[in-house]
Amino acid sequence: MPAGATSTTDPPAIVGRGGFDALITALSAGGREVVAPTVKGGAIVLDRISGAEDLPIGWTAEQEAGRVRLARRDDQALFGYAAAANAPKSFFHAADLSLWTARRHDAGFTIEESHPAIPPRAFLGVRACDIAAIARQDRVLMGDDHASAAYADRRRDVLMVAVQCGSPSRVCFCTSFGTGPRAAAGFDLALTELDAGTGGHRFVVEIGSEAGTRVMASVPHGRASVEDLALAEAVTDAAAAAIDKHLPTDGLRAGLQGAPDHPAWDAVADRCLACANCTMVCPTCFCTTVTDTTDLEGTRSERRQIWDSCFTDTFSETGGGIIRTSIKSRYRQWATHKLSTWVDQFGDFGCVGCGRCIAWCPVGIDITETAKDVLGDPRPGDPMVRS
Ligand code: SF4
Ligand code: SF4
Repeated sequence: MPAGATSTTDPPAIVGRGGFDALITALSAGGREVVAPTVKGGAIVLDRISGAEDLPIGWTAEQEAGRVRLARRDDQALFGYAAAANAPKSFFHAADLSLWTARRHDAGFTIEESHPAIPPRAFLGVRACDIAAIARQDRVLMGDDHASAAYADRRRDVLMVAVQCGSPSRVCFCTSFGTGPRAAAGFDLALTELDAGTGGHRFVVEIGSEAGTRVMASVPHGRASVEDLALAEAVTDAAAAAIDKHLPTDGLRAGLQGAPDHPAWDAVADRCLACANCTMVCPTCFCTTVTDTTDLEGTRSERRQIWDSCFTDTFSETGGGIIRTSIKSRYRQWATHKLSTWVDQFGDFGCVGCGRCIAWCPVGIDITETAKDVLGDPRPGDPMVRS
């Protein structure tokens, strides 16, 4: 959904399972790419799809600390799993981006900036935590004087079709930040999947923008009944109740800043491999670095922007050397930024509780457990505490 898009007062609709293909066809109108969850590489990932048959029908992804496994469901649900392994970030904030190429010639050299054509896209199956993460990245990458033109290009002309969560995983903790399991805004359409046992496999569709209204104009639908709406509400109520991972946010910001020497940081550093997986999968992490390459003749050079991570040794390298030499200092920087200093910078937490960093950490480090360990013995008198 583009920033500033107009919301509507259209009443929620109901679309039968049989009408779902029409929804995908409508999203594809005008050559728009549809990006949605699909099974790939032993996981559920966001990727380009061409029809409903590409969705993970009847699949779920069991997730816990350091473990993700595909598993069969006992139904034919289209969206019976939590957030996909990769966040929408991978489509908006390119992991590897050519910035410019320089070519030398007899009269000097010319610089060619890179402006790849970005196809219009529709994102189907985006979760509430993903929408919250996109808002955080928009704030960082489009919200001030250092806006990224490449990011803005990828965020332009996007249709966002959320799916309200009915099957949270064991690593989800969106309820701690109020970022899920129900998306209240930031979508063009939001679907709630109702299973066959409720009177037919169907979808309650909330319409969040005029673009969503236009999509629904070519999708066979009816008006959702009061009973349908109650069932849809019950789906996310049950999801919220099923989420048993919690991170209390009262005192979190000040508590982490006030405990830079807490022994919990040493304990987590003993386990952390500094592999950077957590930052790669995190939907809000935005750091990049640049690499320059030249051909052997010195006639062509290129600058590329690639994702970086605060877990690498070079991330904190300055003229005087590397500042964060220990894994402890890197892990503390990352967790404290997500759960504390991000609030100082941007007015909100940098974590949306998606749980990806927990599931994809090879040694199962859980940011909520680390934070609770640190907060268990906060040192509010420390001079780093600002409030
Ligand atoms: S916390 Fe886990 S995923 Fe992150 S750098 Fe350490 S070992 Fe890798
Ligand atoms: S820190 Fe972990 S749980 Fe929080 S948004 Fe990033 S990946 Fe998700």
